[in-house]
Amino acid sequence: MYQLREAESLDRFFQRVSENPVNRKARENLSYLPVNNYTEKWMGNTEIVTMNPTAEAGMPHTRPPNIICMPQYFPESKRDETLAHEYVHIHQRRNIDRWNRFFQKEGWSQVDVSELPERMVSRCRMNPDTIDQPFWRWKDRYVPLPLYEREDKPKLRDVVIQWYDMETGARQPEAPRSFLELYGSAPQPEHPRELLAVEIAKIFKSPLDVDDYLRR
Ligand SMILES: [Zn+2]
Repeated sequence: MYQLREAESLDRFFQRVSENPVNRKARENLSYLPVNNYTEKWMGNTEIVTMNPTAEAGMPHTRPPNIICMPQYFPESKRDETLAHEYVHIHQRRNIDRWNRFFQKEGWSQVDVSELPERMVSRCRMNPDTIDQPFWRWKDRYVPLPLYEREDKPKLRDVVIQWYDMETGARQPEAPRSFLELYGSAPQPEHPRELLAVEIAKIFKSPLDVDDYLRR
């Protein structure tokens, strides 16, 4: 797993997973290993590492500083758009302040974990692409939380997004109306980084498209 040794020292993702009982359990029978020692150079100075098909339950993701982890046997038809999505995550890693300003302009602000109920935080799926800034609120109020459906038998893919209302303490699966007006029924509303990665992947032809998008 030497291709990911530096990544782990930078983000301590699996260290953090191991310290979180629900997230540890969700990954209990999954193998997080590259399938070989090969690293493929890709556009924008990124590198692709092919992972065991069960790594993160087969969900593509990125690790710092520039590694795109793709599961073995990933469907060819989805590969280009998925790599574009992952490239956006690398761009987000390299330009954190710029992205945060963009999110703020759209209506997001960061939330400290201490502002959220511990019983909800402990049930959130940890995501390597958002681990450093996991919680954001929409319009100063609504926080999307990727909650495992079953806390006792958590599965990485069985997650529902619940919107936690910081004013009332209620949570519900429906996104706030103002969110729907801007983003529609987005497939990945768990985090602004995911939302925008999905959007930009639809139009992505080259790394320059990401910079253009941020200038909007
Ligand atoms: Zn993503």
